[in-house]
Amino acid sequence: MKKLMAANWKMYKLAAEAGATASALAGKLDGRLPRDREVLVIPPFTALAATAKALAGQPGFSLGGQNFYPSKQGAFTGEIAPEMLLDAGCRYALAGHSERRHILGEDDVLVGRKTAFGLTCGLSMILCVGEKVEERQAGQVEAVLTRQLAAGLADVPADVSPDALAIAYEPVWAIGTGLTAGPAEVAEAHRVVRAFLVERFRPGGAKIRILYGGSVKPGNAGELLGIDNVDGVLVGGASLEAESFAAIVTA
Ligand code: PEP
Repeated sequence: MKKLMAANWKMYKLAAEAGATASALAGKLDGRLPRDREVLVIPPFTALAATAKALAGQPGFSLGGQNFYPSKQGAFTGEIAPEMLLDAGCRYALAGHSERRHILGEDDVLVGRKTAFGLTCGLSMILCVGEKVEERQAGQVEAVLTRQLAAGLADVPADVSPDALAIAYEPVWAIGTGLTAGPAEVAEAHRVVRAFLVERFRPGGAKIRILYGGSVKPGNAGELLGIDNVDGVLVGGASLEAESFAAIVTA
């Protein structure tokens, strides 16, 4: 399976800027996208159309949504449904990003509902997990990851297609801080995630991609991608500029 190189633009970029960045990114990677890599751009909702237009017809690129509410439609003011993301051209969506868990107050149960519901609707889901600094200091990394994975995947069918599911290991203390987990810390966390996936999904679990996220930059992407069980990256800050994200994609 190709390495998944995902750009999370969070709450940045108006539509015109998003379209321009996506076009610049496609231009920089034209003819240079490694054959073993796939690019995913996850803009804010209001920039989905402009980003989709800029990436239309670009092989190896896809579009994702940062969030949705796990219901088909209804009286959920301010929310967006999976079908609306699909309608806007998305193939992927995130669930459980640490900013949604820790700023917006989403708990493990809601994250699990989103993961299962998104899959049912035909989205490929990226479930984000990761420990806070105090949990790492208390030696609880494995326990936290196991709890988040168990809840996040609770209603995912055992025969889920490995194409339709990815896990992003994102230590909370490394997101947007400039701090990156060291190679040994990344290898150990990804080993824990892989063991869980194989136990839960048997042979299919060996094929589900595990991304690393947390202050990935052009200077550390190559090393991170060389670690066992690192099947891609989820990049925030360094994905906002086409040049730096293109350097990460080709690292
Ligand atoms: C993220 O948004 O998932 C992320 C990892 O952000 P950053 O690369 O800025 O740490």
